[in-house]
Amino acid sequence: MEQIPRTKMKELPAAAPPTAPEQKAPAVNGQVVKPAVIDGRNLPSEKSLSALRKFKKFWKLGDRELNTQYFDITVDGDLTVIEGNYQYNVRQLVERYGTPLEVYFPFVLEERLKDLIDLFNFSTKFYKYRGKFTYHYPMKVNQNREFILPIVSEGANLETASANELWLVKQLWEQGRFNTNIRVICNGPKTKEYLTLINELRSNNLSIIPIVEEASEFDRLKDFKGDIGVRLDLATKVNSHWDKKIDRFGLPPQELFKRGKIKNLKLLHYHVGSQIEHLKEIILPVKEIMDVYVKMRKLNPSLDTLDIGGGMPIPYDRKRRYSIDGLVRKLIRYLQRTSDAAHIPHPNIIAEWGRYIVAPAQITIYQILSEKSIPKGNAKRWYTIDGSFMNDLLDTWALRQQWHIVPVSHATSPKLVRTWLAGLSCDSDDKYSSHGQYLLLPRLENLPPDKPLFVAVLDTGAYQDALASHHCLLSSPAKIIAQNGEIKVIRKRESAADVGKFFGW
Ligand SMILES: *Cc1c(COP(=O)(O)O)cnc(C)c1O
Repeated sequence: MEQIPRTKMKELPAAAPPTAPEQKAPAVNGQVVKPAVIDGRNLPSEKSLSALRKFKKFWKLGDRELNTQYFDITVDGDLTVIEGNYQYNVRQLVERYGTPLEVYFPFVLEERLKDLIDLFNFSTKFYKYRGKFTYHYPMKVNQNREFILPIVSEGANLETASANELWLVKQLWEQGRFNTNIRVICNGPKTKEYLTLINELRSNNLSIIPIVEEASEFDRLKDFKGDIGVRLDLATKVNSHWDKKIDRFGLPPQELFKRGKIKNLKLLHYHVGSQIEHLKEIILPVKEIMDVYVKMRKLNPSLDTLDIGGGMPIPYDRKRRYSIDGLVRKLIRYLQRTSDAAHIPHPNIIAEWGRYIVAPAQITIYQILSEKSIPKGNAKRWYTIDGSFMNDLLDTWALRQQWHIVPVSHATSPKLVRTWLAGLSCDSDDKYSSHGQYLLLPRLENLPPDKPLFVAVLDTGAYQDALASHHCLLSSPAKIIAQNGEIKVIRKRESAADVGKFFGW
């Protein structure tokens, strides 16, 4: 029996008060929308198109400002992703490759990186800023080969956090994969292996800049012939999970002033945190570091670069934030004014925004296996997924990461219910409740047995892979890559034997 929904779009905010009645999806003039059938094929009528637009808006898809411009839904309620003239039907992909499934779209990160580099190049030219911009991709954000190669080919340089990441760089350098102008910045404490690799790559003519993290590294780098940088522990604090009251990275500016002249000092670096929510908080540390830069530059003419680290946020919660254009403009103007006033050349600028570039390039899809009612709670039903938040999307547990989760099938279903998602492991922490609120998803009753409900978690391309684990010996999701209309499996679904091997079986 068809249910005629009465609730209109605007009465369906994503976080309605917990006492609201069972939710229903939008419809046009109170009609349930059915695709028109023409010549045996499903072609959308005017009416269903306008209903579709409402559903798209409801699920916050197809909106550039919200970073979802790549997504669309079909009249049948399937999620699609659009790459130029290609279109991927995500429901068909999961039916073919199974769940849990990660789908990676290289075009998304290529586009984002290109836009970022263009924006900086345009803005420096426009303001007659004489320093140069370079982007360094922080490898820790996602080290998959299939992510690194297109990023480098779009013109990124690299930033490593460990000896093992630098070892990956060495492989690619020795295979002649890189433009010989590529530059690599090495952060993180310098173990013996790390230092050996840094020296080895430098003697093989890779342009490599170790960043001093603590005073003893000046000594350990004293035979290093190339440029070096210093990471600063700034007094400025920002409102981000990662910005601790007492930082354990970098040198306080006073220590730097005490040293005064530093051999081969090329750049000053800081990184105050990730997912920095307010524009002001990206600009504040710039002000502090420019004071240091001006003083140090007067003693060190080799110093010509400012590395502002990472931190550009992703609208995981689909709330509108500051625009990157405004930020770049403010940054450039500030650097220009202060260096002009101090009569020093405009510094070259390095940004290491990682999450911002790669998070939106991957989605993770689960099937809803079953439901269970919740007698007391903001949500009415537990939906059990066939994967694990604690294993596959660990930041859900570690940081209470908020995600944008949308249906992959039945996205035009008129009947929705408030849910919490339960992971497959036996751990009571393996769940997603959208910060104790709820998630609206299509109801499971009356879904055809051959068309189950799948959901996609958006923006899973940053950090989750390297943090992933095997709690309860669950298998990691398979990973496929969708590029130029073609699909390739880049990580097979793990079998019981594959997972057992990690534990000596
Ligand atoms: C983690 C990290 C980054 C990347 O941070 P995002 O928040 O992903 O932009 C950049 N630089 C350094 C030194 C980091 O530790």
